[in-house]
Amino acid sequence: MDLKPVSIGIDIGGGSTKIGLVDPDGNIIVNEVLKLKEVNKPEQLLEAYVAKITSWADEYRDCQLQAIGVGVPGHVINGNRATDICNLPFLNRFPLADYLEEKLQLPVWVENDATFAGVGEYRYGSGQGSKRFLLATLGTGIGLTFIENGHVLTTGNGTLGDIGHMIVDKNLTYQCRKGCWGCIESVASGVAISRDAIQLAQENPDSYLARVYKTENRHPTVRHIIDGSIQGDPTCIKKLNQTADWLGLWVCNVVQIFAPHRFAFGGGWSAAGQGFVDKLLERAKSVGIEDYYKSLTFVQATKGNLAGVLGASSVAFDHAKKS
Ligand SMILES: [Zn+2]
Repeated sequence: MDLKPVSIGIDIGGGSTKIGLVDPDGNIIVNEVLKLKEVNKPEQLLEAYVAKITSWADEYRDCQLQAIGVGVPGHVINGNRATDICNLPFLNRFPLADYLEEKLQLPVWVENDATFAGVGEYRYGSGQGSKRFLLATLGTGIGLTFIENGHVLTTGNGTLGDIGHMIVDKNLTYQCRKGCWGCIESVASGVAISRDAIQLAQENPDSYLARVYKTENRHPTVRHIIDGSIQGDPTCIKKLNQTADWLGLWVCNVVQIFAPHRFAFGGGWSAAGQGFVDKLLERAKSVGIEDYYKSLTFVQATKGNLAGVLGASSVAFDHAKKS
């Protein structure tokens, strides 16, 4: 029996990891979200992946594992072997690829998570057929990936620098986790929205956010701002529009740098739908140079939160072929 070649895509997030077994055409054979509570050592985290991959190798006997791609929420160092300045500080400078290679005897390739999401969307989703493709990931943090004719552009550390930290707020009201003032992450990331949503809930006791926060005893998030807006809650609509204003300025700046043909949006804010994406386009156009928008389309990303797993597995195949 011919064994089916498969690779493993791993997308490490702040609170959980997405992991999948994927074939060379981007079909996900199985995937899971591993929620790991109170993990604060790299070995703890990586052993959970080793256990999952070992159990899949045992279960899917008609598949042959070729390689592993690991997306990390931080910079990539040591020739795609490890991460640094990561949202999970205990992973900083840990020899992640060496550890997994030794345990699983498979080649491992480490990449920034936004880069993998971009590759996933480019090869299997919203970026297919586009010559100059941008993917913005509007999630816990804000990431951007640029792909031109199939090649991912990075400027250092496996990313487009810190493009999620472009300054957009002239009042410089908020400081972000990296220490800059008034950057797009400090006003529009999932972390920023959760911070503001609690304040809005307290200031507007009749609002949808106050109901979520006080009655349901939950911390309001981007999802609640979107849900509240759909229900017509004025506080949520105002916050959504304010965030679209800021994001629109950021979008205008990156459009004028990269001159994309297609610009896709994923992450938590993409749940607000094409209407939200259109708001970003309108805002960017209203302040920017018109020429850039003549042959540019704004779309929602289509691979959702599995884009990172798809990109990771696909790039892992590329490197398995080379090795
Ligand atoms: Zn910042």
